[in-house]
Amino acid sequence: MTDLELDFQDTATAFADKSDQELREKHRIFRLLNSPILNSLGTRSAKFALSIGLPVEGLIKSTVFEQFCGGETIEECEPTIKRLGASGIGTILDYAVEGRHTEDDFDKTKDEIMRTIDRAKDDPDLPFSVFKVTGIAPLGTLERLSKKKKLDAKSQTKCEHIYSRVKEICSHAYAVGQPVFIDAEESWIQDAIDRLATEMMEKFNLERPIVYNTFQLYRTDRLQFLKDSRRQAKNDGYILGAKLVRGAYMEKERERAAQIGYPSPIHADKAAVDRDYDAAVDYCLNHLDDISFVAGTHNETSTELLAQKLIDRGLPHDHPHVNFSQLMGMSDNLSYVLAKNGYNVSKYVPYGPIRESIPYLTRRAEENSAVTGQMSRELEMIERELKRRKQA
Ligand SMILES: Cc1cc2nc3c(=O)[nH]c(=O)nc-3n(C[C@H](O)[C@H](O)[C@H](O)COP(=O)(O)OP(=O)(O)OC[C@H]3O[C@@H](n4cnc5c(N)ncnc54)[C@H](O)[C@@H]3O)c2cc1C
Repeated sequence: MTDLELDFQDTATAFADKSDQELREKHRIFRLLNSPILNSLGTRSAKFALSIGLPVEGLIKSTVFEQFCGGETIEECEPTIKRLGASGIGTILDYAVEGRHTEDDFDKTKDEIMRTIDRAKDDPDLPFSVFKVTGIAPLGTLERLSKKKKLDAKSQTKCEHIYSRVKEICSHAYAVGQPVFIDAEESWIQDAIDRLATEMMEKFNLERPIVYNTFQLYRTDRLQFLKDSRRQAKNDGYILGAKLVRGAYMEKERERAAQIGYPSPIHADKAAVDRDYDAAVDYCLNHLDDISFVAGTHNETSTELLAQKLIDRGLPHDHPHVNFSQLMGMSDNLSYVLAKNGYNVSKYVPYGPIRESIPYLTRRAEENSAVTGQMSRELEMIERELKRRKQA
């Protein structure tokens, strides 16, 4: 066994492409987010100010939006794509609008997702594309489909539209050879998403992985689902595309389960989630001929374990079926150090009109106050780098 030489505390590498001024600005924002009171006050007042039409977009844009999003349009993301690419990190353009409701809106979102695929094709700086099914489908229909409820004629038509949008995106991705992730969402709509993703993989993953489904290992049933998905892929002769995440909707899931009175689908504690996450990584590594996977995580231990296991198994750092991924604005210490050491690594770069990116930004802020220590870890890292530069 060769020892791993990754140093995730190497802040000089993590922030090499940030000027002193950019780093100080990042410090200011993360200090704000790190305070539970300011964090909650900030997200609530931003939502309120926008709802009554106060002109706060400029303020949001120059603060949190700039830290976590690439811009309002694909064009505005170009400097971020270039900057990440220069450090060997791929960009995943993530059109982050949420909460749209009309069929016309869903078609427009689908068209924008198609544009992200066109921007990414043939460009090694954009190795993956991504979309959320709720961006192109009504929640109610996804929920009815997930409960396997009988659909009336109106829902049936909506269902056909959902299917044709998903298929249009995936067949375009296939035609231009651009891999695409389908994000995982709340458990009560996920069954419909899983069925769509599986059908798309059956169609488009026969020669190489194009469509990736997402597995949320905070759910008690997902490790088994990963194994079942791989068996199905093997039987049907296609490659399973798997993005492994812990899961972003823990509190919402638990609240709903308690309210309605069914057992929560989420593991009772973090240790069980971590165990399943690392077991899922192992399972994928054991079946690399049949699975191409992405470890979507900011967890340093899981990241280090995976990097070390590649070495232990004598696999190349940049094995084409093994990828690491983080979100823009978070865990640059992992992304930049992995890239410097030749691993496949990419970052989600969310973009879209500020007003419509608020749910995404709120989730990042809330997630970071809920996830013990993530924000203070970021802050601590920035502070250490500021100190190092001062002393240099
Ligand atoms: C590239 C990328 C893509 C992503 N795509 C998706 C997606 O499609 N769908 C999605 O839902 N999320 C997605 N996420 C978010 C992800 O699910 C996590 O919310 C986030 O990354 C934090 O988990 P972690 O592994 O990075 O870090 P960690 O800090 O190790 O883990 C935090 C996570 O552990 C879980 N957790 C924390 N405390 C407890 C507890 N007491 N009991 C049980 N579980 C607990 C929660 O899931 C929490 O988010 C994505 C993240 C990345 C980086």
